Amino acid sequence: MSETTVLHAGDPLLRQTARPVSRSEIASGGLQDAIEDMVGLMKQTRGIGIAAPQIGVPLRLIVLEDCEEFMSHLSAEVLQEQERYPFERKVFFNPEFEPVGTDQVTYFENCLSVPGLAALVPRHREVSLRALDARGVPVTWDVRGWPARLIQHEVDHLDGVLYTDRMAPRSLCTLELAKERWLRLPVDEVCAALRVPLV
Ligand code: ZN
Repeated sequence: MSETTVLHAGDPLLRQTARPVSRSEIASGGLQDAIEDMVGLMKQTRGIGIAAPQIGVPLRLIVLEDCEEFMSHLSAEVLQEQERYPFERKVFFNPEFEPVGTDQVTYFENCLSVPGLAALVPRHREVSLRALDARGVPVTWDVRGWPARLIQHEVDHLDGVLYTDRMAPRSLCTLELAKERWLRLPVDEVCAALRVPLV
């Protein structure tokens, strides 16, 4: 089991700008340990995304993965609304994205670095990602819905930004309460109940 731990909000390492990774660094294989640590932590914590700064590695590196098991607590209606679906593990170096279109969508997010809390965060519905894959090969991913949200959340970590910087403050709640009361509901109902202005 990995000895690596996730840094928590308040740690200045989470507030720094991570540096790009060179292709020769990727080719050298010296970053495999960091990737394995990140994958190990995701498995351990049942996370769906992690950025290298969260384990104290100041590099532009993110790992994403989502599977059916992790969405089993959500209703079909909510999954459809969130446009959430499983996808296999993706390792991206130097990820950059452009919004596609102007649609914004708002849902609850949580973060391994902000344990126990969740809040509504507006994000672009669709993005076009450019990055290097685990072997250093340039890749693109045009994606909408939940994976697009995940990309925006993880790339924010590379710039020292946490979701709490972008959240609708009135929606902040414990993760436990969010799971019990709010995650199963359409977001409009949550906003009405908590009197969160729609963003
Ligand atoms: Zn996070």
